[in-house]
Amino acid sequence: MGEASYLIVVGAGPAGLIAAGTAARYGIPTLLLEKMDRPGRKLRITGKGRCNLTNQTDVRDFISHFGKNGAFLYQSFSRFFVSDLVQFLEGLGIKIVVERGGRIFPAELDAVQVTERVSGWTIKQGVQLETHRAVKEILVHGGRAAGVALQDGTQIPAKAVIVASGGASYTGTGSSGDGYRMAERAGHTIIPIRPALVPLKTAGRTAADLQGLTLKNVRASVIVDGKKTASEFGEMLFTHFGLSGPIILTLSGRVVDALRNGSRVQITIDLKPALDEQKLDNRLLREINAHHKQQFSTMLKELLPASLIPVCVEQNVIPAEKICAEITAKERHRLLVWLKDFRFEVVGSLPLEAAIITAGGVALNEIDPRSMQSKLVAGLYFAGEVLDVNADTGGYNLQAAFSTGWMAGMAIVQQFKTDQEKR
Ligand SMILES: Cc1cc2nc3c(=O)[nH]c(=O)nc-3n(C[C@H](O)[C@H](O)[C@H](O)COP(=O)(O)OP(=O)(O)OC[C@H]3O[C@@H](n4cnc5c(N)ncnc54)[C@H](O)[C@@H]3O)c2cc1C
Repeated sequence: MGEASYLIVVGAGPAGLIAAGTAARYGIPTLLLEKMDRPGRKLRITGKGRCNLTNQTDVRDFISHFGKNGAFLYQSFSRFFVSDLVQFLEGLGIKIVVERGGRIFPAELDAVQVTERVSGWTIKQGVQLETHRAVKEILVHGGRAAGVALQDGTQIPAKAVIVASGGASYTGTGSSGDGYRMAERAGHTIIPIRPALVPLKTAGRTAADLQGLTLKNVRASVIVDGKKTASEFGEMLFTHFGLSGPIILTLSGRVVDALRNGSRVQITIDLKPALDEQKLDNRLLREINAHHKQQFSTMLKELLPASLIPVCVEQNVIPAEKICAEITAKERHRLLVWLKDFRFEVVGSLPLEAAIITAGGVALNEIDPRSMQSKLVAGLYFAGEVLDVNADTGGYNLQAAFSTGWMAGMAIVQQFKTDQEKR
């Protein structure tokens, strides 16, 4: 048996760091076990190294980014939300800046420095952080959490355990899905895990031909069995296997779920979302008139990035060298439809490993949203991505990790007080 702590936190990501620090701050003997060599390996690579910490928006809008499971977060957001996180970070000397779409970033520091500050704070609160300590199992005695068993067989007793072991993607950061297995063994239901915020694979070679091309200000929509189900406006990217970039990642969760259901899924890109069909037709007429003695491909330079021109020519079956004056009304209409509906057949996604976030996880109906405590095992808590909550990009996921971690830490403070009063 190892040394006794009141609380053991499993995983030193953002959720575990704030949970452990919050408990220790109120004098609770806390052991934070991290299986990697250092805390916050995933946090260090967030936001392309810049760390999109949270988002400046109201709670309703914030929660809407989590889809139907977002309601679970109301309780934690009502106690620890954007302004609380910003205040906490500013207290660590992390100045913030609000960027496009309300995204909040550190103003001067990068993700690695943010991780150092947050983990430094955790240790300063008195948390005992031990790295290279992989937890295998939660010990449960008489329906109560009693500690943890490590991979190496060591058992460490405790009165409370917070599982903050993250999701199951980017496994090199340490988040390899252990928490789901631990929760399941403790009796919890795991909603099947699957990739979300993940690039999509498409049929044919069109995406590969366009590899490296970024499109800004376009609208991408998901078509499931012929019906448009969701759409996003913004930036996307073509890769050698298919589609990626912010709006594709945002739509990817729905795509993955629809493919799992056996549906046919397509992505359609509106290349001219600011123009309705009539306005676009007027624009095409103007371009055709202005270029009437020139070739079709020359006119397309006014409408499309260079690498899209051969694709447009091929898919519209209008010869590149055709003189604009000779373009028929039928051909113009075909071009118009293509510009509004540049379509891709989705055949899959990159694997879970490549996902920014894991969808699915510990079933929320088995967790008390006011404390993050398990309804099945007293003294067992969950925080962060291991729970069945996930949002699109924009800083929402980190806020959820910090908020649920803080909430679990505060709930332990309450449990500790109650335990002491009983003595
Ligand atoms: C490339 C990338 C970029 C991202 N950028 C952003 C962004 O800018 N903004 C945003 O909001 N979200 C972003 N995310 C998502 C965000 O990083 C996660 O949602 C967040 O890190 C989840 O926090 P967590 O504490 O729950 O889990 P994690 O950060 O995954 O931390 C879990 C910790 O638990 C440890 N652990 C796992 N199993 C065990 C075990 N058995 N024993 C001991 N320790 C264990 C892991 O090693 C890890 O340190 C990004 C994700 C990726 C992959």
